[in-house]
Amino acid sequence: MRRAGCRCSDPDVRDAVLDLLLGGSCVACGRPGRAWCAGCRPPPGPARPAWPTPIPPGLVPPWTAADYDGAVRAALLAHKERRVAGLAPTLATLLAAAVQAAAPPPVLLVPIPSRPGVVRARGHDPLLTVVRAAARALPGATVAPLLRSRGGVRDQAGLTAAERSANLAGSLWCPTGRLRRWVGAPARVIVCDDVLTTGATAREAQRALSASGLVVEGIATVAATRRRWPAGRSGQEWTHVEGGLSSRPPVD
Ligand SMILES: [Zn+2]
Repeated sequence: MRRAGCRCSDPDVRDAVLDLLLGGSCVACGRPGRAWCAGCRPPPGPARPAWPTPIPPGLVPPWTAADYDGAVRAALLAHKERRVAGLAPTLATLLAAAVQAAAPPPVLLVPIPSRPGVVRARGHDPLLTVVRAAARALPGATVAPLLRSRGGVRDQAGLTAAERSANLAGSLWCPTGRLRRWVGAPARVIVCDDVLTTGATAREAQRALSASGLVVEGIATVAATRRRWPAGRSGQEWTHVEGGLSSRPPVD
């Protein structure tokens, strides 16, 4: 956004000026200025397939635009947990790239819902914000929050992929009234999430939508983890709970 009176052209100087005005800093490197400085923002690029290991049986192709690491991880957590302003547009750009890789328009973007009460407690729905911003940037994209969470899901921290799948089975559903206008519509259905880890949540969303008569074409996420620990739970550097990421240490 252009600000009256600021004629700075150097991004570092401009960020420093913005910090003086707004008191902000980069969530990744701490540099004064924008919430996500130009040096830490991932460059726009093509999305990549993000198949988890092991692959949940029947999972449609998952696509992502970034690794869940470093600056992207910091930005997703800051956006979700601290509602840091200014992060959503870049996160939406990443998600939009994944959607474009998943299917051509028209597309119907279905976000993974948070657990009941989580949005109220946080005061915002970070994923829905990012999905809506991505849809505004994509011709032929419509957002349809069709899924609801039943609640009663255990914390996913420390669970194996198989345990996560069992934990999430039946946890999502589609209210009938929300479906009527979309069943049989030409739009390709894309499940959207912030991070893909084991794929268990995405697979459960796919199951719930398929059970309601919708054909899911793909999964699109802002980021995805790269598997970096052997089978089992040791070495896990992050956790993923239903309805959102957690920076808590793994629980064995
Ligand atoms: Zn930075």
